[in-house]
Amino acid sequence: MEYKVAIEELKQLNEELSYHRALDAILMWDQWISMPKSGGEYRQKVAGYMALKRADVINSEKAKNIAKYFMSYNIEDIENDIENALVRNFVNNFKRSINVPADLMRKFVEKVGASQAKWIEAVQKQDYSIFKPYLKEVFEFSKEIAVLSDPEKSPFEAMIEACDEGVSIDILTREFEKVKKGIVELLDKINKSSVNIDDSFLEQSFDENELLDFVKFIIEKTGYDKNKGSYGIVPHPFTNMFGPNDVRITLNCQSYKFGVFAAIHEAGHAMYAYRGNDEVNKANLWGGIMGGFHESQSRFYENLIGKSKEYWMYFYPEAQKRFKQFENVTIDEYYKAINKVQCSLKRILADEVTYSLHPIIRFELEKELFEGTIDFDSLPQAWNDKYYSYLGVRPENDAEGLMQDIHWAAGSMGYFQSYTLGNIYGGQIRHALLKAIPNVYEEISKGNFEPLNNWLTENIHQYSKCYTGPEIIKRITGEELNADYFIEYLNEKYSKIYNF
Ligand SMILES: [Zn+2]
Repeated sequence: MEYKVAIEELKQLNEELSYHRALDAILMWDQWISMPKSGGEYRQKVAGYMALKRADVINSEKAKNIAKYFMSYNIEDIENDIENALVRNFVNNFKRSINVPADLMRKFVEKVGASQAKWIEAVQKQDYSIFKPYLKEVFEFSKEIAVLSDPEKSPFEAMIEACDEGVSIDILTREFEKVKKGIVELLDKINKSSVNIDDSFLEQSFDENELLDFVKFIIEKTGYDKNKGSYGIVPHPFTNMFGPNDVRITLNCQSYKFGVFAAIHEAGHAMYAYRGNDEVNKANLWGGIMGGFHESQSRFYENLIGKSKEYWMYFYPEAQKRFKQFENVTIDEYYKAINKVQCSLKRILADEVTYSLHPIIRFELEKELFEGTIDFDSLPQAWNDKYYSYLGVRPENDAEGLMQDIHWAAGSMGYFQSYTLGNIYGGQIRHALLKAIPNVYEEISKGNFEPLNNWLTENIHQYSKCYTGPEIIKRITGEELNADYFIEYLNEKYSKIYNF
């Protein structure tokens, strides 16, 4: 086979796989937005069937020939960045799936369906014993799949690599230690501070529709192009990518703080996903780098932009106009309230400072479970002890402890690290952004989001899946992964809020 022929065939194949991705997104959107509960059982079979069809594409003779050709090719010799990325992504996916029998994948998908149902029941009854056997099986399945997909690595390392390409357990452990140390020191100063922040006004009840209107107003002004998406309402917001120009988000406006910041978060995912350049979109490399890098973009908008003073200098007058709850609240009080630091049990409700510790706890426990140093009987104790040791809080039951997230029930092991990794990337990106545009926050305070969005598009978003996360960071900062910037940023911001 000639290179030119192989690359053309690969483009076609990638197009087909990309259509599968879009179809999966449509199924998922439908499942959450309009499917009746009674449709679940049959839908699981449809999802299993789709997984088989996708496996057929990657197991086809055509795919095998292309893979054979490129696996013996030195990828570094491919100078065209788009073609390089196409080959790299394909070879990685191929290696990962070729040794995993389709039937095993189908069983895994079905097992995950059953495990999620048991997880819901176990959470409602606050009874881990209902969920435990399913959790154990899902872990075992995912371990089996990881061993088959990358026999050279330990199962957990293979899962991390599949989620966050170019990032190893060693790198994560090294940077996470810095994050833990930095946050624990910062928390100590915050706890000793005499500043008391009242955030009770955020807990008042807000009209859901009015809040929904406001949330759409701020995220569209921030940069979310509703012509390239739409909105759905769900309990746990997520972003769904249907194509290079169709990225929809879901919202939940039952409470003010969660409603507003989850929306900015999802809008961050969406903006990143649809800002690929024409070349990237044409090659079906749209959607952005998954895992930690995607989280870096959503969390960047949510926290480093959305929880900044300048952001609310622009939006708070509008919030005050719309909500009588803020009638007697100054912007300073509002800004402090949305940034109040409080050690808590729930990851998704955690503030910007303590948040990063929650995924680290899960990452460490996953590592121990896969290495066998703890088991599923001792997991609740290990979970609770870590919460007590890092955050000073202890869950009273497993529903507010280890069963609070859907990830494990859904078979997403080796994913949690990506949230904290996203924060680390965010600190480095902020540093580079401020170096390039020192007055970027001042512009935001005037409602001018163009400098921010243009810089992110030009330096990060337009490349989508063209590079790995660490490569993008290297391109814009010249550095490797480095948590120091994130810790520095937290210190700078919170020393002003808590006066130390
Ligand atoms: Zn996210």
